[in-house]
Amino acid sequence: MEIIASEETRQFMLNIANSWPSLYTANLKKDRENVARELSTGKQSDGTPLSAEDLQGEKDELQRDEEYIAEAVTVHRTYPTMTYGDEMTLYHGGREFRFLKMVGDARGETVLYLPKEKILVTGDLVSGPVPYYTPPLSQHADSLRKLAALDAEVIIPGHGPAEHDKAYLSLELKLLDTIVQQVRQAVQQGLTRIDDVPTAVNVENLRSQFTHDDKYLDAKFRRYVKGMAENAYREARDGKNF
Ligand SMILES: [Zn+2]
Repeated sequence: MEIIASEETRQFMLNIANSWPSLYTANLKKDRENVARELSTGKQSDGTPLSAEDLQGEKDELQRDEEYIAEAVTVHRTYPTMTYGDEMTLYHGGREFRFLKMVGDARGETVLYLPKEKILVTGDLVSGPVPYYTPPLSQHADSLRKLAALDAEVIIPGHGPAEHDKAYLSLELKLLDTIVQQVRQAVQQGLTRIDDVPTAVNVENLRSQFTHDDKYLDAKFRRYVKGMAENAYREARDGKNF
C-alpha cells in the first residue's frame, strides 16, 4: 500500500507534526482555565454574561476537547510513502486518477480528480457549512477557480455532504473573492489598522446561504469572516500585522 501526498505536505508533516502534542496540551490548559473562570463568574472574558445553556455548551465542548486531545497526543504518525510535486496521474484498475497540488486551508493540499467518472475530491479546499481557511485568501480563491473549471458531476468536500453540482463551490469562491476585493479596496483607500478591518467587510448578503439562519452557525460565520478579512488584510500588507 502507498500513502500518496504532495512533497510539500510530507515536509509539513515531518516538520510540524511533532509540535502538535505540546501545542494541544498548552491550549487545553488555557481552555480549562477559561471555562473554570466562566463557571465561577458566569461571564465571558469580555464581561458578557453567559446563560446556563451557554455555560453547559462550554463545558461540553471542553469535555470533547479533553477526549480528543487524550487520543491525539498518543497518535502514531504514518508518513506518506509516495510524493509528487505539482501534479501526478495514476492509471490503476482501469481508472485515471489525477492528483493536483493546490492551496486550500493549507498549502500543498491534494485534490483528487477522476476525469472519466467526473468525480472531484476537494480536501478542505471546499468545506462547509462554513469554509475553513488559512493561507492567503486570494490563493485559496484562485484554487477554487481552478476547481470550478473542471468537468465534475460529483464533488466530495473535505467537510459536509457530497454535492451533485457546483453551487456550494461557487458560493465559497464568491465569499472569498468578495472579502479579498473589499479588503483590497479599503487598503487602497487608506485603511491602515488591522483592528479596523472588520468595518471594511460586509458579506451579510451571503450569510444565510451558508448558515440558513442557524444561530450557532451565524456566530461561527461572523467569526470566520473576521478571520478571513484579517487574513486578506495581512496579504494586502505583505504579511504585516499592524
Ligand atoms: Zn478537515
